[in-house]
Amino acid sequence: MRLTFPRMGNSHIPFKALFASLGAEVVVPPPSTRRTAALGSRHAPEFACFPLKMTLGNFIEAAELGADTAVMAGGVGPCRFGYYAQVQKVILQDLGRDLDLVVLEPPKLGWIHLAHQVSRLTGGRGAGALLRAVRLAWAKCNAVDEIERLARTSRPRQGERGAVTRAENAALDLLDRAESARQVQEALEAGRSLIARTVARRTAEMRVGIVGEIFMVLDGFSNMDLERRLGEMGVEVHRFLTMSGWVRANLLPKRYTPAEEREAVGLARPYLDHFVGGHGLESVGGARLYAREGLDGVIQVMPFTCMPEIVAESVLRTVSGDTGVPILTLSFDEHTAEAGLQTRLEAFVDLLRRRRRGAAGG
Ligand code: SF4
Repeated sequence: MRLTFPRMGNSHIPFKALFASLGAEVVVPPPSTRRTAALGSRHAPEFACFPLKMTLGNFIEAAELGADTAVMAGGVGPCRFGYYAQVQKVILQDLGRDLDLVVLEPPKLGWIHLAHQVSRLTGGRGAGALLRAVRLAWAKCNAVDEIERLARTSRPRQGERGAVTRAENAALDLLDRAESARQVQEALEAGRSLIARTVARRTAEMRVGIVGEIFMVLDGFSNMDLERRLGEMGVEVHRFLTMSGWVRANLLPKRYTPAEEREAVGLARPYLDHFVGGHGLESVGGARLYAREGLDGVIQVMPFTCMPEIVAESVLRTVSGDTGVPILTLSFDEHTAEAGLQTRLEAFVDLLRRRRRGAAGG
């Protein structure tokens, strides 16, 4: 079995560890590029969500490298996520790609089906092997989140432009190469000190929270390196959506959902009192949470046509009025231009800067 999976930010690091530990030959899709987006957009329906197009592009590029099996997460309504894998299956068949798509549906749809799909991937290996693989992947997943968090908080305080990004990449590379939980810990410590060495200032100029659709929030290629851009403008970026948080919220009992995410859902209630799919509730509540924590602004990130985030966006205008915190919505697809994004970000950061000066009486 030559196994592949979609790319989403740095999630390929734990995924690769998980499947390689189970004895699969792993074909990591090449880093997403304009070609990935073009391939996905050419073959997907025009108004399909951008993440569907990007992950389709990943599958096509992995198939070109010899992958014969792809793992994809399933889902349940009300948004379109549950259809992704089915749509992609049909498109890949039409393209004549011999890629067997194994869909892992969320446990709430039934443990038996999930166990059956997992056993297809483990090739009949015992529970002990599965447990060891999950342990290593989980250690990497948490370590990747920690390195990303350190990069977000350190970038606006770096002494030299680009230093944190270089340190972050080096740390992620160390994590990728770690072969045991102990090595993951060592790589994490080494990564921490690499990033710490880049810091030259005690504080960032301002703090901004990011909310939105999880794929777009986590995937640096798809959001055009939003966190790096903000960091280099002196902005400390906060976000509670993470890969390990997604696993906790979707695969484990409710009490393991990260506290901030649970709190955000609660804070959304006065404005939006029912599940709208994706992370719509978390986006609304997250904006309130960040306003309460005194952050300077909030950025909502979403793919063009994303239903849950469109609902959230309409509510966020009221949240912004009630809390006084400026909120910028950024919608991305394959047509988004870099220059337009940079201009909007600079204008937003400038607005936040002026508000700060005004508040300080300067
Ligand atoms: S959350 Fe948005 S982008 Fe994701 S599947 Fe649903 S509609 Fe599409």
